[in-house]
Order: sequence, then structure tokens, then C-alpha cells
Amino acid sequence: MVSSQGKGLQYSIAHFVFPSLLLTQLIYFSACPLCLAGEINPHFDLLYIEDEILSKISIPDINAKVEDASRISQSVIDKVQSYNLEESVRDLSSFHTRHSESESIDDVAYWLAEKLQSNCDTDVYIQNFTYSPDLTTSEDDDNNFSDIHRQKPFFYNLKNIACDKLGSTNNTIFVSAHYDSRIEDLNDSEGRAPGADDNASGVSVLLEVARILSKLSLEHSISYVLFSGEEQGKWGSKYYADFIDKADIDLDLLINLDMVGFPPEGSNSILIEYDNGNVVQDNDKYSQKIAKLIRDVASKYTSLNATLGKLENTDYLPFEALGYTVIGLHDDGVTKNPNYHKSSDTSDTLDYEYSASIANVTIATILQLDTLISSE
Ligand SMILES: [Zn+2]
Repeated sequence: MVSSQGKGLQYSIAHFVFPSLLLTQLIYFSACPLCLAGEINPHFDLLYIEDEILSKISIPDINAKVEDASRISQSVIDKVQSYNLEESVRDLSSFHTRHSESESIDDVAYWLAEKLQSNCDTDVYIQNFTYSPDLTTSEDDDNNFSDIHRQKPFFYNLKNIACDKLGSTNNTIFVSAHYDSRIEDLNDSEGRAPGADDNASGVSVLLEVARILSKLSLEHSISYVLFSGEEQGKWGSKYYADFIDKADIDLDLLINLDMVGFPPEGSNSILIEYDNGNVVQDNDKYSQKIAKLIRDVASKYTSLNATLGKLENTDYLPFEALGYTVIGLHDDGVTKNPNYHKSSDTSDTLDYEYSASIANVTIATILQLDTLISSE
């Protein structure tokens, strides 16, 4: 049921964890939340955030804590490797298609589960759900059933893939990306659909963020979630949002990565998509404050030119509709990448240094939020 109160960024105790992960939590906590394993003297840097005080029920007082709390190890974000991003995008794009109705979609899911496992300390969780395609092309007009629709099954079994990195608190940040792809004709499940920018790029950044953060002990718990069925109408994220709502997960923030590999020509710009209206109103202010924080983080730690934009139509929307605080990072490729939803959206068209900067922004944002919770 939709709450009228803003969720997310509310620090309570109750939290759901995957049962298989409970044991891991006991041995994972370390007293040094920002120290990279093995590093004795990480270089700390200060970030000044020009923003008003965040709400008392959101993340802690950002102005009062910023001098003590805003220490981000530059050495941590420097460990992002663009060749890891390129390898992930090439591998994912080498599947002929990742269309949710294709025969290969399960192979993609299992390949990704293995890949995520290699960057995540706890057991990967595969969530099965059912997607029912819209078999009608026109309301109540059976004559408009096309042959392709008649041949379709009534439902498809799809898979979301997730892994938790447990922190010393139950406050959770989600990092999400969809892994399915498409071409112009959404019903064409057999045509070549490499989906490099949309959205192997987002998956690759998620995997690299997981790899880097796996070496740190954090206050926040981080959940990495890979959705299927986005192109058919956000089926995976709708199912997952409903699941975490019923499980009462203490979700503070969702950062969704959808198209983060194709910089608008010459601009090195990135859109930070924030919540302004949509279904629930009370969560808007948290999203907008986090968007400004991310813009400052991007300016401080990368050469990205970050601008704020409003939420569009992707996987954060089902979470927003349940009241959670959501943010999207996006290269604006829906309008600016000429290969969008085409067979030409190939791995050789992307800029992996650009993607690496977005991975750095994601990591630095999580570390920034983590310093705030640790200084409470
Ligand atoms: Zn997409």
C-alpha cells in the first residue's frame, strides 16, 4: 500500500536481510568504515556542500557535520578501472540480444549472477517473477491480433539478480540497473540488440562499484540489484519494489543507473535525475537534496559537468510510487544517443572513461552518505 509519508533516509532498526547472509554480517564489521583494506594512511579530502540543513528525519544534519564527516578517500575512488567497465559492456553486448522474451535471457541472467558474485561478498540472490505481455494491440478488437502476438506465450519467467553488502547498520542504499535490451520494435525478440549504452553501461558501473566497495567496511548496507523486463514496462523493478516494501527493508536511497556510457558530444555532462512530484510528494525534498549533494560530489571528484533533471521513465519509478527516495544517473542518451534502441548501440560507441567517472561519483556519494551516518 502506498504511504503518503516519504520513506527512505529514515534510520530505524528493523531491516530485512537475506537469510543466507546473516552469518556473514557477524564477521564483516570493521572499526574503520572508510579504510581500504590494507591501506594504513589513505589520503583524505574535504568536501564542502552548499546546501541547507537536511531534514531531521532524513540523513543527519549535513552542515553541522560536514567538516568532520566529509572525508572521502581519494585513493578509493581512484581504484575504478575503465577497462573493467569496457570488459563488462563487451561481454554483455556479445549476447545476441538481452530481450526479455528471447531464448537467451536466462543465460544472460546466470552469467550476470556469476559476474556479480565475483564482486560481492555474500550470496547472490536470484528472484524469479512472471511477466505477462500485453497481447492486445487495440482494445477489445480481436481482429487486431497480429501473428506475432498470437504466437506469444501468455507469460514469461524472468529474473532479478541481487546481492547485499552488509554494513554495520540496517540503513540501506540500493544501486540498481536493468540488464535487458531492445531494438526499435519492442516485439522483436530475435533481432540483434547489443544494448551497450542501454543498459550494459549501467550494469558495468554497478559491477565496478560493487568491486570497489567490497574492499571497504561501511555503516550502510548496500544492495546491488539488476532488473529484467524494464523495456516491457519496468516489470522487474515493479516486482522488486513490491517485494522490499512488504519485507519492510530500511531503504534510505535508490541510485538507478540507466544509460551511463555515451556522453553527449563534447559536453562530458551527466544528468542527475531527481524526484519532483510523480506519485508521492513527501519524498521529493530528500531526492532533491541528494541530487545537489551528488552534483557537488561530481564537481569535487570528477571532471563531469553534472546538471539536475527530473525523473523520466525507468526503474526508479515503482520505488518512488511507494514513497522511497530515488535518484537516477543518466547520459541523456534517450534524446542524444543516435543508437538508442537500435542494433548500432554497440560497445565500441561508448566512452569508458566517462563511465568510470560515473562509477566514481556513485562511490563518492555512498562514502559521503556513509560519513554522515557514522558521525551521528
Ligand atoms: Zn534503459
